[in-house]
Amino acid sequence: MSKVALITGSSRGIGKQIAIKFAKEGYNIVLNYVNRSEEVDKTIEEIKSLGVEVLEAQGDVSNFEESETIVELAIEKFGQIDVLVNNAGITRDTLIMRMKPEDFSKVINVNLVGTFNITKNVVPYMMKKRQGRIINISSVVGISGNAGQCNYAASKAGIIGFTKSLAKELASRNILVNAVAPGFIETSMTDVLQESVKESIKKQIPLNRIGMPEDVANVVYFLASEESSYVTGQVLQVDGGMLM
Ligand code: NAD
Repeated sequence: MSKVALITGSSRGIGKQIAIKFAKEGYNIVLNYVNRSEEVDKTIEEIKSLGVEVLEAQGDVSNFEESETIVELAIEKFGQIDVLVNNAGITRDTLIMRMKPEDFSKVINVNLVGTFNITKNVVPYMMKKRQGRIINISSVVGISGNAGQCNYAASKAGIIGFTKSLAKELASRNILVNAVAPGFIETSMTDVLQESVKESIKKQIPLNRIGMPEDVANVVYFLASEESSYVTGQVLQVDGGMLM
């Protein structure tokens, strides 16, 4: 039977490439996103063309009931979830002087509470199977901090604490939990930045290029594979050496 990967926020960007990587490796995919758009259809077609099954599970991960439904739909269709990738994330960047309480809570609710909501619903199934991999997408700014991102950096630092705690809780059940901390990756999240800002970021990257979603997807896949079966509670940076 094919394995199943549930990837939150997988309609585009990094999540989409993670879904494509797992599909190439023969996984059936649970595709989640919050707002429907043409790109969702394109992504679903692309994944299906790789010969695997795709379950479309629209839903807001910051809502506990919707998260429950996403997981229930996945179990109904495939009977199991072997890999969970908590990837859905948003930014609402601004300096604290201008940051509204809702800018702070919205980012925490999607990025951090959303990670809890989906994980909480998936873990019982993994525990029953005594097997599973959970990979949480953090960010290097969760380690370093970044002016203008106190909401986002707090959410991503929170994901690191969550990952390590869960890794300790679940290791005895053979469920491995790790985080990936991308640096600067080319997606619609970073498209909004001015060219001059992108150029100055590039100068801080020893590998001298901006990362691609595939760079992150390959590392996520490694953390789901047999090759990483002695790795848990870690934060793997995928940043071209930007933060070391
Ligand atoms: P993106 O904006 O291109 O994609 C985000 C995805 O999340 C979309 O599929 C969107 O539908 C989904 N999403 C947003 N809110 C959601 C919600 N409430 N419920 C369910 N799905 C929701 O972003 P990206 O650049 O691909 O980022 C993916 C992840 O990688 C995020 O967690 C982001 O914080 C992290 N990250 C990105 C970078 C970067 O440079 N792009 C760097 C570090 C970390």
